Amino acid sequence: MRTYLVTGGAGFIGSNYIHYMFRKYGDTIRIINVDCLTYAGNLENLKDVENQPNYTFVKADICDSAAITKIFDENDIDRVVHFAAESHVDRSIKNPEVFVKTNVLGTLVMLNAAKAAWELPDGSFKEDKKFLYVSTDEVYGSLDDGDNYFYETTPFSPHSPYSASKASGDMLTKAYFDTYKFPCNITSCSNNYGPFQFPEKLIPLVINNALQGKPLPVYGDGKNVRDWLYVDDHAKAIDMVQEKGKLGERYNIGGHNEKQNIQIIHIILDTLQEMLPDGDPRKELVSDKLITYVTDRKGHDRRYAIAPDKIKAEIGWYPETMFEEGIKKTIQWFFEHEDWMKNVTSGDYQKYYEEMYKNK
Ligand code: NAD
Repeated sequence: MRTYLVTGGAGFIGSNYIHYMFRKYGDTIRIINVDCLTYAGNLENLKDVENQPNYTFVKADICDSAAITKIFDENDIDRVVHFAAESHVDRSIKNPEVFVKTNVLGTLVMLNAAKAAWELPDGSFKEDKKFLYVSTDEVYGSLDDGDNYFYETTPFSPHSPYSASKASGDMLTKAYFDTYKFPCNITSCSNNYGPFQFPEKLIPLVINNALQGKPLPVYGDGKNVRDWLYVDDHAKAIDMVQEKGKLGERYNIGGHNEKQNIQIIHIILDTLQEMLPDGDPRKELVSDKLITYVTDRKGHDRRYAIAPDKIKAEIGWYPETMFEEGIKKTIQWFFEHEDWMKNVTSGDYQKYYEEMYKNK
């Protein structure tokens, strides 16, 4: 039975990945989820798997070398999928230190622990052990509004403390391959959306606020472009890269779905109107009058656009979920999980949100 060590599995993408993997492999795999449960980690995301004998949760900080080493000592780990990170750009602008700590030093701890567990006395590595670093398209910097894309060969040019810290973890992982032939891959993915996404990110924020008739904050002119990918497609890509990717290689993952932020907001408002039944009082609240332009994010990247040609050609992965379908599935999920949203928005996030927008 193959054993996976997933870091940050209580977060948005990590929890979707764990669900995806259990759906795909059932009881033929074992997953250990290590997460220190920051404001973004929520064990409710994994309620339906928590009692499975092949699932274990370990509450630990990835910067805690002793705790991570203990997991490797006590388990024969075959795959590491490293999601754990501070992930929100706005928070990194306010408080960069924790981003460097988790995203750089935490990644180093993970690399060192896996290397120590997997390395043989002659410097080679045990067979069939693999580490995957989940990186982001933001490491490449920003594109203009032209017809150009990020490729795996695009030089790094991160602009925010978040993307700079992710780029550092990314480069450390590549350095471990170049230096030690450490068995790893890196995936650089575009913006994800789907179930369990914390409502500080654009899509769940807009869904949640629109349903309550609250303002929909839009940075700058609203024309910043992101390439959106349904989270299950990302989970599938990660699994395919780990099983079919060439070690040491980076693979870009993207949705072929570039949209301006303001377009996303209009699509969500139209879809909510379409999906809410007649007579539902929330239908009255959902309106483009809620759109509120706010001061632009500092150093706001204009456009991200991924060319996922390599992963398609070498591995056969391509984005399967059309945006129209993915956004309906996401909205339906939020309709069915109002309690999840209430719980998440009643805690720390609420204080952060008030602070964030109080002067806007
Ligand atoms: P998230 O913020 O929802 O989840 C992060 C998880 O990591 C949380 O469960 C949190 O508790 C945990 N964590 C944070 N610091 C930790 C620490 N020191 N020790 C242990 N656990 C810790 O993030 P996400 O959106 O699910 O992103 C997951 C990964 O994917 C990140 O590495 C992110 O950079 C990358 N990524 C995200 C996107 C996106 O659109 N969300 C796109 C590309 C890449």
